[in-house]
Amino acid sequence: MQLAEKLNITDRAISKWENGKGMPDSSIMLDLCKELKISVNELLSGEMIDMKNYDENAEKNLLEMVKQKEENDKRLLHAEILIGILGLLPFFISLIIIEAVKMEEWLASVITLTSIIPFLIATPFMLKIEQIAGYYECKECGEKYVPTYKSVFWSRHIGRTRYMKCPKCNKRTWAKKVMSK
Ligand SMILES: [Zn+2]
Repeated sequence: MQLAEKLNITDRAISKWENGKGMPDSSIMLDLCKELKISVNELLSGEMIDMKNYDENAEKNLLEMVKQKEENDKRLLHAEILIGILGLLPFFISLIIIEAVKMEEWLASVITLTSIIPFLIATPFMLKIEQIAGYYECKECGEKYVPTYKSVFWSRHIGRTRYMKCPKCNKRTWAKKVMSK
């Protein structure tokens, strides 16, 4: 409770950390470490670090963070597929309805056009995930980069491989999606 007061948060939040149900927000990590008189690295690795082994531990923490980003990115890409399927579902359902129910042509057109709207709404979200999850690898120089949303939006693509300009060598290549740098 004393620590919670000093950090201006609830004691329930601290209880969550202690029980492993949550992590301190990065915004208060520095203050928390100051109160506990430990380094951020020690907080993240959960052990006291003597300076002799410091580099090794820093390396491990960094690796752990990279691993978490990769796992998170994979989850995002799976979510993208789900969003795509859900977005297209109304369209397929409308095809079935039009096939099964006799109706005038104009009504069939209205139903078909309306059924595409969810997919159109889903598209920007899917493109955003394509942009931020993982990296694109330049075929020319091997640079792995995160492209701008604009270049993802306007580029031709086959699956997740996109024809984009590399920020390092400025060549346009069919850049493949890779998960790690
Ligand atoms: Zn390049």
